[in-house]
Parts: sequence; structure tokens; C-alpha cells
Amino acid sequence: MKSRYDDAAAPTEVLQLRAYTSRLLGAEPSLVLHGGGNTSVKHTAQDFFGEPVELLYVKGSGWDLASIEPAGFAPVRLDVLRKMARLSALADSVMVREQRAAMLEPSAPNPSVEAILHAVLPPAWVDHTHADAVVTLTNTPGGEARVRELYGERVLYVPYVMPGFVLARAVYELVRERDLSKLEGMILSNHGVFTWGDDARTSYERMIRLVSEAEDALAGPRRARPLAPHRVAPDPLALASLRAAVSRAAGRAMIARFDGSPEAAGFAAREDAPAIATRGPVTPDHVIRTKAVPLVAGTDASADVAAYADAYRAYFARNDDGSRTMLDPAPRWALWPARGLVAFGASAKAAGEVADIARHTIACISDAEALGGWAPLGERDLFDMEYWTLEQAKLRTGGAPPPLAGKIAFVTGAASGIGRAIARELGRQGAAVCGADVRPSITEDFTGPGRLGVVCDVTDAAAVDAAVRACVEAFGGLDLLVCNAGDFPPSAPIEAIEEAAWARALELNLGGVMRAMRAAIPFLERGLDPSILVIASRNVPAPGPGAAAYSASKAAATQLARVAALELAPRGVRVNLLHPDKVFDTDLWTEEKLRLRAEHYGLSVEAYKRSNLLGVEVTTDDVARIAAAVLGPTFRTVTGAQIPVDGGNDRVV
Ligand SMILES: [Zn+2]
Repeated sequence: MKSRYDDAAAPTEVLQLRAYTSRLLGAEPSLVLHGGGNTSVKHTAQDFFGEPVELLYVKGSGWDLASIEPAGFAPVRLDVLRKMARLSALADSVMVREQRAAMLEPSAPNPSVEAILHAVLPPAWVDHTHADAVVTLTNTPGGEARVRELYGERVLYVPYVMPGFVLARAVYELVRERDLSKLEGMILSNHGVFTWGDDARTSYERMIRLVSEAEDALAGPRRARPLAPHRVAPDPLALASLRAAVSRAAGRAMIARFDGSPEAAGFAAREDAPAIATRGPVTPDHVIRTKAVPLVAGTDASADVAAYADAYRAYFARNDDGSRTMLDPAPRWALWPARGLVAFGASAKAAGEVADIARHTIACISDAEALGGWAPLGERDLFDMEYWTLEQAKLRTGGAPPPLAGKIAFVTGAASGIGRAIARELGRQGAAVCGADVRPSITEDFTGPGRLGVVCDVTDAAAVDAAVRACVEAFGGLDLLVCNAGDFPPSAPIEAIEEAAWARALELNLGGVMRAMRAAIPFLERGLDPSILVIASRNVPAPGPGAAAYSASKAAATQLARVAALELAPRGVRVNLLHPDKVFDTDLWTEEKLRLRAEHYGLSVEAYKRSNLLGVEVTTDDVARIAAAVLGPTFRTVTGAQIPVDGGNDRVV
């Protein structure tokens, strides 16, 4: 690991500089992952009255070192924190309250749970990470001797103590009589590493140096990490079953993220993988996201997850003193022997974070195994961490989850118009969305967590199958299918219909719906509150002259959806239809085209847009909101329904 410190880029203002080197630490995933680690600086500022006050600026809860700004540091009065360290006991809730009360800025974030520990270390700059390499060394039999041999007298060694007040108190006792200027840092067994210095660069570069030395010590074991020859694909149906079983155990829809990288597949191919993967996490800080152990997936997802949940309940009963409320018993990641890893989360982002932690975990386990054995913290300490109120608080994101959180949707024709609006609305309501479209731009339209764009022509059966499979491989399953792709062929009276235009209308508007359903049904059957929505047309109940191919193909698609409602109801899949009228806020309707159509009916453009019973213009967002409602839990008792979205039409009502 190399120092990323750049004199030219380093700010001079103290908090800016504190944020800068914190971000340098955050840029190394093998130092800190997703909110792990914390940093501080001691600095004298002026209070409201202009009087000097000694403060500890320490990372605030909810901030990530990778992206922290000066506003992410909580300014706490140093004398109060140091006084706290001298107490013989201090309840966590009282500690949090008193730390808040001692802040110079009441609106600053809550100080890190390790604030007192930072305060009792005399040097001005203090950096703390959960570096993989250092923790791996301590998570082996004889870890303490290994650390002492590696670093000699340059670091303090602290046996594992639960973070928070107890750890701060223990370190205070260790350092009060010591001259820390002779030391570069301290190693917290099974937890992480602290470094310090009189300036930002010294503290940061000591961290890089100590971690690099640990990495060098692990160079041999690292060469023994198993690597599969190539990326492994999941069995999509088995993945969907696993995700459904985990979601049911969790009591809510979860996204599953499969990792079949050569590293993950190589680890999963080890014969001893089920034994070594289930010994415990790298650092107890991970437990709140990953639980203490992963599931080992077998061939029966329901039975496997049920057995995991039973074991979790037993673990809770063994360790609970009667004061805790059990969390859901679902696993957060799984070892899939011979295939790879699967991470689970309430959102695609959360699943991605767990996947990152799992990937680091298997690397640490492999290294430790090559060094004599993976020996992480024991169950009791992990339980204390998992059920520590201050850790639980980190997971509370505030407010109820959005209505479609954890759901997985597949939308055809998602690059424009109604399809794009529906995909956006489903995403806004919390669903992970795979957008399929014949336009190549779809891959750029759908990026970021919970979004996948797939180029797909719905007239090509193999392409549709592949697109649905890509969605399942990305998010773990499929719950909501929106059959929207379609086109309006050139208007023609029946006697003038061209053979090719007729065939294409049926291929696209009818065949496209059938192909999407056929590909999706095996996954929808394994989905959570699964539902299909077919976007038909106002032309079905109220056809117009000159649109025979369009109306006939949409009417046939309607009949197909009605049959699907009959076939799929016993399997718990709902199928409904929308019949939208023309929507004008799409690229299809140029001003020129609008003017011509309005003229054709002898109307102004405004009147033409509102030519319905309610006199309202129907927009893509209107259709999208209704689509999301019909797909979602509000309509859980409705199937086979045809809903006009047309402002009211006297030929339809
Ligand atoms: Zn820590």
C-alpha cells in the first residue's frame, strides 16, 4: 500500500486537512469499508463568547471516510471527553447524550462511538481503520505474538475489548503513564489499528506503513489464495429460489447480489469452505451488516434458510439476557459451494455493501488459513456487538421503506415514453429496475445501484430470454414484469395493409408480450407478490379506422393477458392491463404532428390534447403512477383487470 498524500493537494486549514487525509484512508477498501474506521484532530477554537476552547473534531456517525467533508466532524469539548474516560462506568445511552451535550455546534452529527478513545490519546492527529491485513494477523492462533514480532516496540498491543466506553477506559489505563511520542500506533486485536502523530501526514503515513508491513507479512499466504480459472454464472432459477427464501425469513423483499468472480468461485470451490467461512467475520464492526456467519446454500433453498433461521434463533436464545429484541433471522450472505457468494440487502446498494464485505472476508480467511488458521472473535463478543444499541442505531435510516423496496422489476421499451416513466416511478418507489429496449442508449440510461439497462429486441426470443436472465443475475430474481414495448404501424385502411407491416405489428405488439411473459414466468413464480402489467391501448375498447394492425395486435395482447391471468392466478401471479389513451409528452409527438392531428379533428392543439370526458391531458407520469399502484400491494386482490387511463371516453365507460 502506497501513501496517497500529495503536498500540492493537501489543504492547509485544519478541518479541510482532516477531511483530506480521512478521504485518503477511505479510498482504500482494504482499510475501511462502508462507514468503518474513524479519524480525529484536537484543535483549539473559539466559542460563542470568543474564548478559546479545546475541541476534539471526531468523525460523526453516518459519515463515510471515503467521502467525508469538514461538516462530517463533530466538535466535542475535549475536557468533557477526558473526564468521561476517568469514570468507572458509563452507560452507552448516557455517553451518547453527554457527548452531544458537550458539542460546540448542536446541529453537528453524533460523535463516533470511539470519541472518548480518540480523546485519551494525547497526539493531535489520530487515525483508525479496520485494515484487512492487520486484523487478519490478529485473527490467527498466536496472533498476538505475530503482531509483536512484526512491529516490536513501535506499537501498543490491546487485547480485544468491546468498542465504546469499555475500550476507551481500557486504553486510557494503558496510555496514562506512557509517552506515546515513542509509539507509532496501537493494534486492537480482532478489531483494527490506530495511528497518531503531531501532524496529519505523519499519522496517515504511519497507518499506511503499519498496514503495508502487515501486507508484506501476508505476501506468502496471499499467493495461496484459490482462484477459479474464469467467472462462474449462477443457476438463475436456484438464485431466485434462494432470494425468495431469504426474503421470507427476513420478512421483506431483499435484493440478492451474486458474485461468481474467480476469487469468489475459487474460494467456494474449496472443500473446507463451508467450515472456514462460518467461523466468524473479519471485525465485529461487520456483524451488523453481515450477521456473524453466512448461510451455506445447498440444493433446497427453503430448507437451507429455515435451518439457518433456526440456528440464528438458538444463537439469540443462548446469548440474550432477556433485554434484547431479536432481529430478523435471515442470512445476509451465502456461500454457494462450487459457484461463489451471494449477498442480500434491503436495496441494491445495501446488497452491494454486503457483497464488498463478503469479498474482503473470504480473502482474509484464505490468508489466515495459510498462516495457521482463521480464528476470529467468539460468538459472545459478536452477539454483544450485533445487539449493541449504538451499532443498531447505525442501521436506522429513518422512516418507513418505500412501498416497492427490495422488489425487482423488468420493463420492456424502457428507453422512452411510458416505459421510461414507469421504470422511473418503480425505481422511485424502491424497486430495482431492469430496463430493456431495442435502443443501445438503454445501457447508459440505466446505470447506478438498482438499475440495469439491457439491449433487447422483443421480437427475438433468445434476446428476451437473455435479458430476463441478466436481470435475475443482477438482482437475484424477478417480481414485476411490465410488457410495454410496442409500436404504432403506419395508418392504412384494411385493403391497403402491407403484409410486412401487419406481420411486424403482431410480432412486436403481441409476440413481444408473449415472449416476455414466457421468459419471466418461471422467475415470477419464485418472486415476491409477483405481478404482470401489460400496457395495451385505448384502441382495444375503442378502436379507430385506419389502425387495424395496431388495434388487432393490442386486442390480441389483451386476450393473451386475460389467459395469463387465468393460468397464473393459482400460482400467485397477478396479471392486469392498462389501456392508456395517447400521451403527448413523448418524443413521438412533434409539434408539427400534433398540429396536423388537431387540424384533422377541427380542434385547437390544446382541445385535441384534452378531448376526453374529464377534459384533462393524460401524461406519461399519470400512466406510470397508476402502473406502479397496479403492480404494487394496493392491488394485491386484483387480477385480470383492464383499466382505462384516458380521461374518460364515452365509448369505453
Ligand atoms: Zn473501530
